[in-house]
Amino acid sequence: MDTIIGVLALDYPAEYSELQVLGKGVSSILQHHSVLGELEEFVFLIDQLRSKLARGDFLDSADLISLRPYCRQEPEGSLLDRLREELGQFDFEAAVVSVEKLGEPSRLRLQARVDERNGGKNMETKPLVLIVDDAPSNIQLLAGLLNSSYQIKVATGGLRCLELAEAEPRPDLILLDIQMPDMDGYEVCQRLKQSEITENIPVIFVTGKDQVEEEELGLSIGAVDYITKPFSPAIVEARIATHITLKQQNDALRNLAMRDQLTGLYNRHFLIDVATKRISHAHRHQQPLCLIMIDIDFFKAVNDQHGHSIGDDVLRDVAKIFVAQSRNEDVVARFGGEEFVFLLDGCDLQAGVNKAENVRLSLENSCVQGLAITASFGLAQLAHGEDFIGVLNRADEAVYAAKSKGRNRVEVAEITPS
Ligand SMILES: [Mg+2]
Repeated sequence: MDTIIGVLALDYPAEYSELQVLGKGVSSILQHHSVLGELEEFVFLIDQLRSKLARGDFLDSADLISLRPYCRQEPEGSLLDRLREELGQFDFEAAVVSVEKLGEPSRLRLQARVDERNGGKNMETKPLVLIVDDAPSNIQLLAGLLNSSYQIKVATGGLRCLELAEAEPRPDLILLDIQMPDMDGYEVCQRLKQSEITENIPVIFVTGKDQVEEEELGLSIGAVDYITKPFSPAIVEARIATHITLKQQNDALRNLAMRDQLTGLYNRHFLIDVATKRISHAHRHQQPLCLIMIDIDFFKAVNDQHGHSIGDDVLRDVAKIFVAQSRNEDVVARFGGEEFVFLLDGCDLQAGVNKAENVRLSLENSCVQGLAITASFGLAQLAHGEDFIGVLNRADEAVYAAKSKGRNRVEVAEITPS
């Protein structure tokens, strides 16, 4: 590694000025405790240190001193000393590990705090704005402006921005600088727009680049707005508020359009849309994918004997059981009437069988609405070159097989040679 990391121990102040000092911005952040909470700040500093190490930038004692106020307790204090030693010995790999370890407890506490906040359902959470800029002073300026109306997350580089944009809770808006050392804002924006996960997050460029062509380029790659520096705080606030409102309205509409009204599960329309994307992704990356079709046994009898209102309650309760049995990345949809579909990403046949069997069992054991409700399951693993209709039809045939073999069971579809 041809990178040089300069470490200046406090003991050698004479050499201090000879080293490249990158810690000034960090110190400026430290003077603004009111804007970011202490935990956020510390995690922010750790991330900065990590990205400096990754870039091979100089680290100096100012960086380490910045961390000192946060490291009053064991084991943080001793970790910091170890980090200082490792940097002194140019042991970069060990230093990165120490930096990670140093930040971990704070990261966990931060996550717990976020979870706690999200757990309180009645608590109105403020929209989340992600501010991305390589200059901490710019971040500070925007954060100070928005802090009272929004939750704030910050990133000092493009790669970190992409990471934070995908992580829960996802931002409602991203303020994006263009000139950054690791990845420029145009590329970050393009990547955000290409990803299914982040494509709907509005991006506003906030930049010193004030040429018309630059603005045109920014808007052409999917940004909703373009703000040039120096900006008027009132105008920035107003534009951000507008785009956040639009985003929330869009989210509400999208949610309505993709949900089944009765059960709250995804509807058939959404399933077809997302399945098509995930199937082409699975083919492209040669990853396994399974689809389970589920049909509730003797559902017509439930409606006939207990009325449609109880029938609806059964469907709602069954949906809850299905959701409880699914991972975040699974898509659980009501396909129609009493038919449901699980779309399982990155799931091979054996895992699919286990999943179907678990869902079948938990339904059998639940005594939904005081009734003995069971279902028949048809499982199909995506075959080479197969499309959604193909895998869906095979799962459907497997459901029929399960029905004819006595119901309340899982049948696996055979792969038909194409
Ligand atoms: Mg910049």
